[in-house]
Amino acid sequence: MDKKPLRIRYDVFLIDFEDGLECPCCGHNVIVGDGTDACSHLVFVWLYREGVFDYVKSEFAAKFTPIYEDYRARLKAAIIALGDLMEAMDSETEIDPMAFELSRISNRELDEIDFLELLKTCGYEGNLDVYDATDCGIACGRVSSTVIIGFENDAIIGDKSVVLIT
Ligand SMILES: [Zn+2]
Repeated sequence: MDKKPLRIRYDVFLIDFEDGLECPCCGHNVIVGDGTDACSHLVFVWLYREGVFDYVKSEFAAKFTPIYEDYRARLKAAIIALGDLMEAMDSETEIDPMAFELSRISNRELDEIDFLELLKTCGYEGNLDVYDATDCGIACGRVSSTVIIGFENDAIIGDKSVVLIT
């Protein structure tokens, strides 16, 4: 059977988590940060810092979680490999400069892979309206937190800001 396309509209903005976020389809207020109150359109709420879902539909988790775990494993392996090379340098063991350079590049490349990149390759089929939302807080010095929230929204078909993955 042919794979259906994945359409993604991805928006980045600031919100006040206390006000929650309204579903673009039904207007239901999805509360984030203290458990998620879902409507039928909500596909996932990803807690960026923690790297876990606060809410997720099982069909999305089945696609995304293996991709994410594979990415985390590769990133961890790359960090350890670079750490080993740096340790060897510190102890004045001779290391291959090319191996060091390649390890550095691999770390940087993996580090630059964000949620959207993983989303594009996870093989989910549907029309995702994604909000990358950061609560910057009002109080000075308060640590910001980011959630990435995905809704199934058929209305984004044909929207020119949509990334189409086939
Ligand atoms: Zn809704």
